[in-house]
Amino acid sequence: MLTGLQIAVIGGDARQLEVIRKLSELDAKLSLIGFEQLDHVFSGVSKEKITDVDFSDVDAIILPITGTDSNGRVEMIFSAETVEITEEMLLKTPSHCTIYTGIKNAFLEEITKKVKRRLVMLFERDDVAIYNSIPTVEGTIMMAIQHTEFTIHGSSVAVLGLGRVGMSVARAFHHLGAKVKVGARKTEHLARITEMGLQPFHLSDLDKEVRDIDICINTVPHLVVNAAVIQKMPTHTLIIDLASKPGGTDFRYAEKRGIKALLAPSLPGIVAPKSAGQILGNVLAQLLEDDVLKRKEKL
Ligand code: NAP
Repeated sequence: MLTGLQIAVIGGDARQLEVIRKLSELDAKLSLIGFEQLDHVFSGVSKEKITDVDFSDVDAIILPITGTDSNGRVEMIFSAETVEITEEMLLKTPSHCTIYTGIKNAFLEEITKKVKRRLVMLFERDDVAIYNSIPTVEGTIMMAIQHTEFTIHGSSVAVLGLGRVGMSVARAFHHLGAKVKVGARKTEHLARITEMGLQPFHLSDLDKEVRDIDICINTVPHLVVNAAVIQKMPTHTLIIDLASKPGGTDFRYAEKRGIKALLAPSLPGIVAPKSAGQILGNVLAQLLEDDVLKRKEKL
């Protein structure tokens, strides 16, 4: 249980509603900032303006998956206002206050280091990233269906990267009957791709491997699908770039060549916000409970 824990939830999309539900079920006291347009009210939860929050009481701050922009501004789906995370605000919090966000963010890393508060990036955790790959895969399948005139079954699909997302995507497209090849750079990844019954190739050979593909799904957060690679693709190829912004594709060149290339961020939040939110809610509940236990042990 999270009885007595004061948590500020600042901004976010529909996934945050499941997080709020879970934490309020566990009896945490929640201040919601940036949720004025939300009709539903959970018990033990109050909607507040950032200026009304007493940060000296806040044990944890939960930010959206994307954290903030490079100036500290938080994305607000349920509010017309914007909120900025400031040094002054964080300095008011108790020293044990932990800031939770989704993905790596230079602004947050810098500011939390400066004020000596702990920053937890949930998607750096393997468990979160693997669970989250499930709705990501479903969203990728949806996009492939929406943007092609052919079945996934029987089509040639290149998946780039064998990380948490790449592995799930490659496996799902294989089970749907696609001919899947996977590009990676580590020998152990190439071995795993072979073990999975898929065709491995080294990413340095990407330009040769794309000559016969129908769909290219990138998960590498670096420019791998560059102009030289796109130039070798058949013009009907669909590129779905899952890597975090700005993706790993030369979108300008793809457009010039008439190849459809889609940057597809935050698919879990689009196709399955409830499931994606439950994944985050469950992990956050566990982490917050662990924090409480650790603090009690220190006393
Ligand atoms: P991950 O486990 O870290 O996997 C990343 C993959 O990219 C690994 O295979 C890694 O190989 C490879 N890689 C990284 N840098 C590389 C480089 N410079 N050259 C070649 N290969 C490189 O990450 P993940 O959890 O699978 O997530 C992949 C991306 O998808 C991230 O950007 C993440 O934010 C994003 N994502 C998007 C969605 C969405 O809805 N679109 C959902 C979840 C995640 P090595 O091990 O060799 O480095």
